[in-house]
Amino acid sequence: MPDCLFCKIVERQLPSDVVYEDDDVLAFNDIHPQAPTHVLIIPKRHVATVNDVTDAATFSTLVVRAREIAAKRGIATSGYRVLFNCNPDGGQTVFHLHLHLLGGRPLRGLG
Ligand code: 5GP
Ligand code: ZN
Repeated sequence: MPDCLFCKIVERQLPSDVVYEDDDVLAFNDIHPQAPTHVLIIPKRHVATVNDVTDAATFSTLVVRAREIAAKRGIATSGYRVLFNCNPDGGQTVFHLHLHLLGGRPLRGLG
């Protein structure tokens, strides 16, 4: 296993506030939330960045799970943002693929 923060969260070697789990995906609250809903949705299998994904299903699965969590949180109609940061210029700081789900307040700009 790579020395990876999010792999350790998947393996329960580190704690997290899990909001969804299945065989392939884990979703948990971001430790520094930027909005009332700020959930990270990750594949359990280690993939470092968007550049390293080899199957389109990985992306679609994460987006569908984000959409379901948004609906469950009651923010589907008010709106939300889903985003991947990729590599340093994209703002990526944890190198295990994760989809941010942000919502619960109006989000401005790209920040
Ligand atoms: P990135 O900047 O790589 O797109 O996003 C990494 C996100 O992971 C950040 O929003 C950061 O707050 C979050 N994060 C970093 N360390 C931890 C942690 O140990 N637990 C949780 N739940 N989130 C973390
Ligand atoms: Zn990992």
